[in-house]
Amino acid sequence: MSPLVGVLALQGASGEHTDALQKLGVRALEVRMPEDLKTIDAIILPGGESTTISMLLESSGTFEPLKERLSQGLPAFGTCAGMIMLSNKVLDGRTDQRSFDRIDISVRRNAFGRQIASFETEIDVHGLGEPFPGVFIRAPGVETVGPEVEVLATVTLDDQSEMPVLCRQNNILVSSFHPELTEDLRLHQMFLSEV
Ligand code: GLN
Repeated sequence: MSPLVGVLALQGASGEHTDALQKLGVRALEVRMPEDLKTIDAIILPGGESTTISMLLESSGTFEPLKERLSQGLPAFGTCAGMIMLSNKVLDGRTDQRSFDRIDISVRRNAFGRQIASFETEIDVHGLGEPFPGVFIRAPGVETVGPEVEVLATVTLDDQSEMPVLCRQNNILVSSFHPELTEDLRLHQMFLSEV
């Protein structure tokens, strides 16, 4: 049987991830409560508002059980707000906002500023042939990357520096952008190859 992949569905763009998984022939389960975590083999944390997702995880009693499963090695893919949730340091966050400490990056919320809050650009991803369509919506930026982290793609900023936008540490994959809002399934496939 195909793996069962949870999609955290408390807030944000969960339906598009579920569709992408179904297109790839993988079973998906919307995760809203601690019980939903029991049978999943991996989880996707979608985009949305990390402050709200953090708050709803706590009020539904799901934060601690999910943290526990992640620390036991549950593979996870975090997109945008989901990247923030998996990071070990959140900059410009709310003081009561929590994250799961599963990837050794520090992430600044809304790092691309107000003027260019949302944009699209082609991204060269390490290991993929054709560029990937990057859809950025009030996206977080990765400011520091620990030694265990592989940077799989960057974008060039105005000052010509490179900002990581796709990173992996073991079976944790995170993107600043939204692959689920495109027809391109290659990053979901990349994640599933770790499951
Ligand atoms: N700015 C949002 C946050 O801080 C992330 C935006 C998104 O997920 N598209 O959580």
